Amino acid sequence: VEYTTDVVVIGGGGAGLAAAVSAHQNGAKVIVLEKMPRLGGNTILSGGAFNAAGSPRQVAQGIEDSVELHYTQTFEGGDEQGTPELVRILVENAYPAVEWLESLGMKFNDEVFTVLGGLWPRAHRPSTPLGTGFIDTYQEYINATDDIEVLLDTEALELIVADGKIAGVMAKGLKGDVIVHANNGVVLATGGFAVNNELLEAYNQSWPSLAGIKSTNHPGATGDGLVMAEAVGANLIGLGDIQLLPLGDPNTGSLAGNIEKGVENRIFVNKSGDRFVDEGARRDVMTLALMEQQDSFLWVIIDSSDYPTGDEKNNFNESMNELVEQGRAFKGDTLEELAAAIDVPAENLVKAVEEFNKAAETGGPDAFGRTLFERKIEQGPFYAGARMPTVHHTMGGVEINTYAQVLDGNGAVISGLYAAGEVTGGIHGSNRLGGNALADIAVFGRIAGESAAAKK
Ligand code: ADP
Repeated sequence: VEYTTDVVVIGGGGAGLAAAVSAHQNGAKVIVLEKMPRLGGNTILSGGAFNAAGSPRQVAQGIEDSVELHYTQTFEGGDEQGTPELVRILVENAYPAVEWLESLGMKFNDEVFTVLGGLWPRAHRPSTPLGTGFIDTYQEYINATDDIEVLLDTEALELIVADGKIAGVMAKGLKGDVIVHANNGVVLATGGFAVNNELLEAYNQSWPSLAGIKSTNHPGATGDGLVMAEAVGANLIGLGDIQLLPLGDPNTGSLAGNIEKGVENRIFVNKSGDRFVDEGARRDVMTLALMEQQDSFLWVIIDSSDYPTGDEKNNFNESMNELVEQGRAFKGDTLEELAAAIDVPAENLVKAVEEFNKAAETGGPDAFGRTLFERKIEQGPFYAGARMPTVHHTMGGVEINTYAQVLDGNGAVISGLYAAGEVTGGIHGSNRLGGNALADIAVFGRIAGESAAAKK
């Protein structure tokens, strides 16, 4: 089959759907191509943390923050490898993107929090589980118009070039070839390559070895967009910058089952029951430290403040009682009982918690340099969850400018080609802050849609 539209979006994750809605708001007809049988990409699996500084929610909680601090933490947290102009666009447009999502009907909780490796309490949490709120919001917008069409089970294979411009996409659907002509251009929003072990091993410059490593990502994160973009001359940057998290499920790599609700009130211990890192540090710092522990294995240790009855849910919509029943978390009425349940020396676990509690009283920094504290770990019962390194995000990708236009190796715009989200490089540098990806995909998805609608 053949279609003609204004803007073709490849990828129906958070970036692609933001681009589709934004292109439509700016007057374009849109077709979204999604290779999986459903929309949502990694956003659906994520804990939903969306960093935005300068939010009235922060003011209400007495949290000091600024766009400038968000900029500095993002840029320095990525070892100054990000592109300053893109980082600036991200932080300046993050809170406006929250407002944009709200204008589309999305609901966020009043409380902001610090997400793993987010370094600061500026994460906004959707009121519905995981990242479903984002995708449902876009889906409702799409349902309400005839001018955005979504083709599921449709895998983009190649960009069509005509008269020196990107003019459409060759794809494959369940019933055969699909050709979509684009009057304005194509937005590449295909995500990263966290589940493509071949590419991970080929590009990896960040870690000793990634052979056989698992991932938090959905199965569509195979890096197709990089191949399509490179074929039309796009410049690929930062591909060696691969983000691992220390909090993957040991069996699946997934973030599901993680018992922490925020970073302030939990510690990590190794198989000897000893702490080994600042648990409020950058993601790469924590993961490297974890790789030095026996079997690269940690226990997240918390008390029951976040789970007073055990029926309360974690960030992945699972209740603590359900996790304990399934053997995916462990419980002890005292720290000694918990130590016995997870087979670590009780005296070490008790000492680790005591020292953490002392630091929590003063606010640190403690022996590991930790400064993020809220409460002590003292309210029984106590809980533990097993975690290991897992691939989470690929920071590198297609080079873009501040209009989300794709650039070639000479820094020139490739006419008609736009990109947003994890397929792009240059925003997060060598290490992405937790909570910055959902902000990134909304901010740059929105810009890409606007640019494509305007034929910029
Ligand atoms: P982002 O966070 O940047 O939106 P995601 O990985 O969440 O990235 O979403 C990317 C989406 O693109 C996924 O739903 C994925 O299945 C889809 N996708 C990846 N490659 C292709 C392709 N070749 N054709 C169509 N869709 C694709």
